[in-house]
Amino acid sequence: MTTTGVIIDAWRALRAHADTCPQCHDTVVELSAVPEEPMRLYASLCRAGRDAFVLWDEAKRALPADSGPADRVLAQVREARRLFGFEGLDDAVANLRNRALDSMPTGAVARLRELDEGARMAELGAVEASIQHGDRMKHHQEEIDAGNERPCEGCDIRFLPQFERQRYHSSACRQKAYRDRKVQSRPRPSLLETE
Ligand SMILES: [Zn+2]
Ligand SMILES: [Zn+2]
Repeated sequence: MTTTGVIIDAWRALRAHADTCPQCHDTVVELSAVPEEPMRLYASLCRAGRDAFVLWDEAKRALPADSGPADRVLAQVREARRLFGFEGLDDAVANLRNRALDSMPTGAVARLRELDEGARMAELGAVEASIQHGDRMKHHQEEIDAGNERPCEGCDIRFLPQFERQRYHSSACRQKAYRDRKVQSRPRPSLLETE
C-alpha cells in the first residue's frame, strides 16, 4: 500500500535528480510550487527526470481514498515533509524516516499529525529506533549465519567481534585476562623465601 513515506521518497528522488540535471532543474522548481497542471511540465524533463516523475505520479495516484488532484497531493507531501522534519536530512536518516512512516498503519500516521511537534518526533523516533534495532538483529543473525563468530579467549562464549583483533567478548573478560597475566608474570620472592 502506498503511504506518505513512499510519495515523499519518490519526490525526493525527482528532486535529487533535478539537483544535478540542468535540463530538469527549473521544471522541478516549478513543480514544487504546486502548479495547476503538473503534467504540462512532464514534457520538459529529460528521460531520467521523466522516469522519476512517473514514479512520483504513480505513488500519488496509488494513495488510498483521498488522492485528490495532483497539486493538492503535492501540497500534502510538502506538508508531510515539514511535519515529519524531512528538510535538510541526509539520505540515510531520511530513508530511515520513510521506512518508519511506511511501517505505520495509515491511522497511526494520521494520529501523529495531530500531535504537537515534540510528541510527534518522539513517537517517530521510537519507531525509527525499533527499525534500527531490527536491522541490527538481522545483521547480527547474518554474521552468525556467515560463521563470523569467534570464541572469547576468557570464557569460551562465542561472540561477534566488533573489530578485527577483538579477543574477549566483554570488558570484564579482557580485564580478568589482563589481571591473570600480571599475576603469572610477577616474580614471587616472598613465597620462595618463606619455603
Ligand atoms: Zn533530467
Ligand atoms: Zn568472555
